[in-house]
Amino acid sequence: MKSDLLELLKMVNQRQDELVDLLSHLIRYKTPAPPARNTEDAQQFIANFLGERGFAIDKWDVYPGDPNVVGVLKGKRSQEYQSLIVNGHMDVAEVSETEEWEVDPFTPVVRDGVVIGRGASDMKGGLAGALFAIKLLHEAGIELPGDLTFQSVIGEEVGEAGTLECCKRGYTADFALVVDTSNLQIQGQGGVITGWVTVKSKQTHHDATRKSMIHAGGKLYGASAIEKMMKIMQGLQDLERHWSVMKSYPGYDPGTNTINPAVIEGGRHAAFIADECRLWITVHFYPNETHEQVVKEIEEHILHVAKADPWLRENPPTFEWGGSSMIVDRGEIFPSLEIDPEHQAIKTLMGCHESTLKEQPVVGVSPTVTDGGWFGDAGIPAAIYGPGELKHAHSINEQVSIQQLVDYTKVVLTFIYEWSHTKK
Ligand SMILES: [Zn+2]
Repeated sequence: MKSDLLELLKMVNQRQDELVDLLSHLIRYKTPAPPARNTEDAQQFIANFLGERGFAIDKWDVYPGDPNVVGVLKGKRSQEYQSLIVNGHMDVAEVSETEEWEVDPFTPVVRDGVVIGRGASDMKGGLAGALFAIKLLHEAGIELPGDLTFQSVIGEEVGEAGTLECCKRGYTADFALVVDTSNLQIQGQGGVITGWVTVKSKQTHHDATRKSMIHAGGKLYGASAIEKMMKIMQGLQDLERHWSVMKSYPGYDPGTNTINPAVIEGGRHAAFIADECRLWITVHFYPNETHEQVVKEIEEHILHVAKADPWLRENPPTFEWGGSSMIVDRGEIFPSLEIDPEHQAIKTLMGCHESTLKEQPVVGVSPTVTDGGWFGDAGIPAAIYGPGELKHAHSINEQVSIQQLVDYTKVVLTFIYEWSHTKK
């Protein structure tokens, strides 16, 4: 390892109070989502932080009051050396009225080797570590050969995909590091897509007509959308069971690929036959599947189920998939991310973890979903690698270990340095 880098790693130890202060500062910005629309000040802080260190800043509203910030630090030999995106989300999980925190969730507490506060592990810890690494590299006057892009995004907790907006805006790199909660494991992820299945009658019938539509010889070709939805739900359960038997992925418990009938809405009034029923489902799939594939499988299966029913055959269910916000349009997509352990960046990251912390890194899969999938979707190789444990994320007295935060900062600093000094 180069001597200037070794000096910087020592500096992380010596200046860990500054690192903790930076994390505490980020926690003090109240950025829970929902309700969202509250990240302006925090994002301006990031924009200033990066701007003062030579990054060209792009800040734009994804929603009013929720801007993305992207900082680009051009490498001195961009054409020849590898480029990197460091990505993290500024929004944190919501805090409900009934949660009994030691102190206010947005007043950080530092004690017994941990920092407590909403976002400590998910994921202001990851943001603080990466920002502190950038600060130390800048102070040491190290000019990176490859391009470094820092993305501080919004909306991750409510499916608003600030990261997707960065990809759409054209930001790309040879590799993306998502600094979300992973307990210092190098992770890919399965995906999630939500969808609405709708059963709808072409006519609305009065309650009194039911006898004619269900009795022998009644001769009224009609049905309750609620009763027909029960067949669809049975079909979804059959498919879920079939998937659990036939599909698997290393690192996941069998049957992690679930179809959850989460919300059902139907019928209009007791005086009518239900003419519409809508089912909101949440589908989990594996890293080697795409949401397009699983959507196709579900639609094909359910349309076969419908064909076997005399009324559904003529009134097939319809589907609406995904959405760009759980707040605005009640839908979301988290694409999957598959890690290639042979990819040069993954090997480099593994090497940085091992040389810095003197332990073998764990390469695996996240039990949850992050924005990492959007890079997979955009064809940008990526991995999730961040401090904090998932059991603390979203929990009361959310916390992160200071030792782990320090370790993390060292590895990220080393990785930014090493990857940027790797030839294309
Ligand atoms: Zn997160």
